[in-house]
Amino acid sequence: MKTKKQRKVLVIDDSQPNLVLLKAHLNSMGLIALLADNAREGIAIAAEQKPDVILLDVMMPEIDGFETCRRLKADIRTSSIPVIFVSARDASEDKIGGLKLGAIDYVAKPFNRAELQARIGIVLQMTELQERLLLLANTDELTGLSNRRHFFEILEREVLQAKIRGGSIAVMMFDVDHFKNFNDTYGHLAGDKILQQVGKILNENIYPLDMAARYGGEEFVIVMPGMPVEVATQRAIKLCSIVDKYSWEISDQSVSVTCSVGVAVFNGVDSTDPYELVRRADEALYAAKRRGRNCVVSYDTLNPDEQLQAHQDEDFYELQTKISALALQIREQAMGIISAFTKAIAAKDPYLANHVENVKKYAIAIAKQMEVSDLLIQQLETAAMLHDLGKIIIPNNILHKLSGLTDDERRIMQRHPISSSEILAPIGLFGQEIVIIRHHHENYDGTGYPNGLVGENIPIGSRILAVANSFDSITSSKPWCAETKSADDALGEIVSLAGSQFDPEVVDAFKRAYAENHSFWPLSQRRKAECTAN
Ligand code: GH3
Ligand code: MG
Ligand code: MG
Repeated sequence: MKTKKQRKVLVIDDSQPNLVLLKAHLNSMGLIALLADNAREGIAIAAEQKPDVILLDVMMPEIDGFETCRRLKADIRTSSIPVIFVSARDASEDKIGGLKLGAIDYVAKPFNRAELQARIGIVLQMTELQERLLLLANTDELTGLSNRRHFFEILEREVLQAKIRGGSIAVMMFDVDHFKNFNDTYGHLAGDKILQQVGKILNENIYPLDMAARYGGEEFVIVMPGMPVEVATQRAIKLCSIVDKYSWEISDQSVSVTCSVGVAVFNGVDSTDPYELVRRADEALYAAKRRGRNCVVSYDTLNPDEQLQAHQDEDFYELQTKISALALQIREQAMGIISAFTKAIAAKDPYLANHVENVKKYAIAIAKQMEVSDLLIQQLETAAMLHDLGKIIIPNNILHKLSGLTDDERRIMQRHPISSSEILAPIGLFGQEIVIIRHHHENYDGTGYPNGLVGENIPIGSRILAVANSFDSITSSKPWCAETKSADDALGEIVSLAGSQFDPEVVDAFKRAYAENHSFWPLSQRRKAECTAN
């Protein structure tokens, strides 16, 4: 258990009896009392011991309390220590003068013991709160290590000290290799656990004067004051191998990760710009990635070509990051649009809502059998969800009519692929999907609509969607239609139409998908069974 820090209070007062009295009060509060009977000694103790509060007498020989306060506030080592004046001078102007000098409180002598203790208590509570906030502001939430902000604060100080004292300072930048793949394979939560562990390993294997921080994402930095470049590189190699040897049990598998590391060192004579030091470590890290990962590269061993390449990589990476973020944003917007449209379809006709879900699953199953690209699968998924959007504007009496459509009604009905495309076109996000939707009622032999396209002129996505669409229509019961076919009968019908209505290759793929999913299909009847069971 972490023990609570014992607080120190410095009393500066030329009167011995006062010092003794205040010491007793402070000790009874569980505080450590530091005592000084003159200003000079008090200022020296404050700078060295950094007390949490200073109780300061005003009337003292040689240097009085006001001047002492002025000097304490002017020294960077003592300026933030709260000062409480404790004085027999209790005129308003004295109090105001003291507070103006930066004191936090002013207590008149003779003081009431309980009141003084309460005032010290409030100041200490404020100090505690400040410390907690500072810790939060400096700490990375996931790993508990220092964050990037705190890292730069420390580095700035250390670089300056190295310059003043003439020592060296090393920065190592660690980046976990192929971590995106790791997340994709084991999930983000497992990824988080690895990052926590890598942070812990690094932190536990550095020396007390070193500092490990999380720089961001899957990147960690270590600052090593006084470290020459050869030793720093050796230490980085050692840390890398400790991480590499570590393994975790995830989903009954033993997994491990590797890191690439860039090392950069400033010697006393070098620049004092901490950002320059980090930039160099980052450049070396890029080189380590290019040299095959799981290795350490020191900035001073980079050749000019590698330095140039690193700059280009950084620009490229920055652009790539921005574009990915934008793409993600656009995709999220698109998903919002799809979901709004799906709700609109469901409101129009609950049958259509189930239908588009089923068609999506059939289309993906067929597409996977045909080993099409991931991109086409994604497009099919969206196209399936939106293919009947145009039916929103068709009156139900036409939509649900089984036979005997008049020519006008048929024209309205057959316009729905075009209507779907027209609704989607102004959004500008679904170019490929619109093409798939527009032609999903074309027949392989050229007898379909809206354009009478033939064979391979019909986009492959549309040919897949056509089979998926028909299979669900044939096997779904609709409130306005008594007839529903079994999955086997529907399959038979689709196979019989290979070469006329449907692309024979798509029908073959559908047969294979059907064989694999025989026990789950048709989805419409599973859904009905689920509803009955509920
Ligand atoms: P490289 O070997 O080139 O470094 O490849 P990489 O996949 O590690 O690098 P890239 O920069 O492409 O991807 C970094 C990945 O780190 C992607 C991101 O999802 C993951 N990541 C960043 N922060 C976190 C986090 O807090 N938790 C988890 N689980 N993953 C994170
Ligand atoms: Mg990275
Ligand atoms: Mg990485």
